[in-house]
Amino acid sequence: MAMTERLYHLDPYLKEFSARVVRKTGQGVVLDRTAFYPTGGGQPCDFGTLNGVDVTDVVEEGEEVVHVTTGAVDGEVRGVIDWDRRRDHMQQHHGQHMLSEAFVRVAEAQTGSFHLGAEGCTIDLDKEVAALDVERAETLANMVVCENRRVQVGYYGMEEAKGLPLRKPPPAVVGRLRIVTVDGFDCQACCGTHPRTTGEVGVIMVTGLERQKGATRVHFVCGFRALREARENARVLRALTGKLSAGRGEIEKALDRAQEDFADTRRRLVAAEKKLAEHLGKELAARGTVVVEAFEGKDLEYVRAVATQVAAVPGRVAILAGTGESSCLVLSRSQDLGTLDLRPIFKDAIQAIQGKGGGTPHFVQGGGPGKDVRAALKAAEDRIRANLGA
Ligand SMILES: [Zn+2]
Repeated sequence: MAMTERLYHLDPYLKEFSARVVRKTGQGVVLDRTAFYPTGGGQPCDFGTLNGVDVTDVVEEGEEVVHVTTGAVDGEVRGVIDWDRRRDHMQQHHGQHMLSEAFVRVAEAQTGSFHLGAEGCTIDLDKEVAALDVERAETLANMVVCENRRVQVGYYGMEEAKGLPLRKPPPAVVGRLRIVTVDGFDCQACCGTHPRTTGEVGVIMVTGLERQKGATRVHFVCGFRALREARENARVLRALTGKLSAGRGEIEKALDRAQEDFADTRRRLVAAEKKLAEHLGKELAARGTVVVEAFEGKDLEYVRAVATQVAAVPGRVAILAGTGESSCLVLSRSQDLGTLDLRPIFKDAIQAIQGKGGGTPHFVQGGGPGKDVRAALKAAEDRIRANLGA
């Protein structure tokens, strides 16, 4: 086992470097020195190339850094870091440090853990933090960005580190602790890559909050991600103001109005359908004793209304089905056909649509995912006609 020299710790701005392959592993190569940051300490790894071959993963194995590549790499190599990806990680990671410290100062909330994701980042705070305090912490962190304070990295022994204003107790490590400080603001043990000044982080933007009992998850993005977020928000807002013909300040009201209109229209539609169903029920009852019908695109509520109307006429049985979002079956009979129990008939017939349901001897209803309502109607009709001798 060799020890890989970590060039990214000496210079986090190093984008190209030369090195030598010292060992090949099953999935990649170990170099004598590297500027590729391996996944660790909450920061995702770098991508890039070694002699033009893509590096798709970088992992730490003991003292070594293993570069997973898409092809063979040997001998002397030229390494190139995907700088856009690295700069993005530096912006998110350093932004996290500042936001975590801001939450300590504003709300005495400590960061239990954090996650730098491919899309967004999160900080998990150890208490419930009010929305106003979240805004205050966001403002404070951005203030420190604007002041463009110096960021320094130093190495300390465990005893020395005890005298530092560390945000969290440092992890127990063998050897020296790597401490990242923001002048007069933050001090934290960390192995990640950080910028020289806070200004390089760019805007720190909180994008969401999740409050649970005794904890808060803060979603955030920094730098160019914040720019992309703001751009996307502006695009969506432009589309909404266009669709709703309302300015930004009126959007919420316009949407409330549109939803009320929709609910009102729906209520009127339901009332009209009910009237239609009643009318239809009367018409069907005039046909004869046993009324069998399937309604396409109609749901249980509609079919039930028709069935009720049919059975309101003495000496009638309604055997009705609907094929709305799912299939439904309704059996209903007049009160004067007192000996006919529809429940066992329904129980068998509903099998045709793999459905469930129930009711009283004179009214049963149910639905299922099956499509063959004709088979269900036929099964019920045969039994009912046999029963009535009709
Ligand atoms: Zn860190």
